[in-house]
Amino acid sequence: MTALYGVIGDPVAHSLSPLIHKGWIREFGFDADYLAMHVPANELGDALDTLNRRGGNGANITLPHKEDALRLCDKISDRAEAIGAVNTIWRTGDGIWSGDNTDAPGFRDALDFVLQTEDFDKELFDADGQALVIGAGGASRAVAYVFGEDRRSTIFCNRTPSRAEAMISVYHKGAGDRPSSQKVRAKSLEHISGYLEDCAFAVNATSLGHSGQSLNWPPGRGRLLYDLSYGVAAEAFLKPARTAGWRTVDGLRMLVAQAAYSFEIWFGEKPDIDSAMDRCRRTLESLV
Ligand code: NAP
Repeated sequence: MTALYGVIGDPVAHSLSPLIHKGWIREFGFDADYLAMHVPANELGDALDTLNRRGGNGANITLPHKEDALRLCDKISDRAEAIGAVNTIWRTGDGIWSGDNTDAPGFRDALDFVLQTEDFDKELFDADGQALVIGAGGASRAVAYVFGEDRRSTIFCNRTPSRAEAMISVYHKGAGDRPSSQKVRAKSLEHISGYLEDCAFAVNATSLGHSGQSLNWPPGRGRLLYDLSYGVAAEAFLKPARTAGWRTVDGLRMLVAQAAYSFEIWFGEKPDIDSAMDRCRRTLESLV
């Protein structure tokens, strides 16, 4: 029987995940399919029951279900628990679901790739230069966890300051039981201009680009700005920064890398990230 996988979210029609996973399934020659599954808020439990009845083997979980998935899975990884969100589930028995968060290793993979390939002042990055994370929603939690693991000096700036405060505990969970650092702070987005001046590099984890918005950028002096979004949204956010001299990179590699970690959980094989990047870039270019 064809193994069934998919991405569960709302909205989900725009998702690149089917393109990524179907391509890898084809490359490996697996008898499997990967579908976009539109599931409104608060209906994840019913969706998992349906998936179980249909013999579904696993799924990616996206907005607005990542926190519900944490609650609904029977077994979750320490990492997903610490981050407070599940983005990958797999069935380990009749109606029994396990969950993990692959956004965090996906972000780490993407950053490592940037360090290897992009032309910007890496010394700032390597010397534990201060990271500025703009935004404190679901995706920012994965970034907080990774920077906590690294015990990197980090400032979270968010429109709603209480959500930036919440990133501090995720950061500390990433840092584990190693000596607790005083290196992490939460600030309101109102005060971002000074932090943009001082940071060694910045990460955009807001959805500002989706409404065509960006920030007022001080001179970038070749510093890195990594945007978690991709496509038109990333371009809207990144273009003014690039004009101001920032080295800008979008979040497509993170998307593909987190998908690769999910694929490996499900199929036990490491897929080809570059082939999926090419498919996604071509698709995004055709949408402009
Ligand atoms: P989310 O949970 O909805 O969080 C959205 C963030 O944007 C919050 O910090 C929110 O601030 C901020 N924001 C929204 N509108 C704003 C405005 N007008 N002014 C200032 N701040 C505003 O979304 P998410 O899941 O974290 O996603 C964030 C971004 O990451 C999106 O672009 C998404 O596409 C991208 N993403 C990428 C990947 C990947 O694999 N590359 C994975 C997940 C997400 P408040 O807290 O004040 O509302």
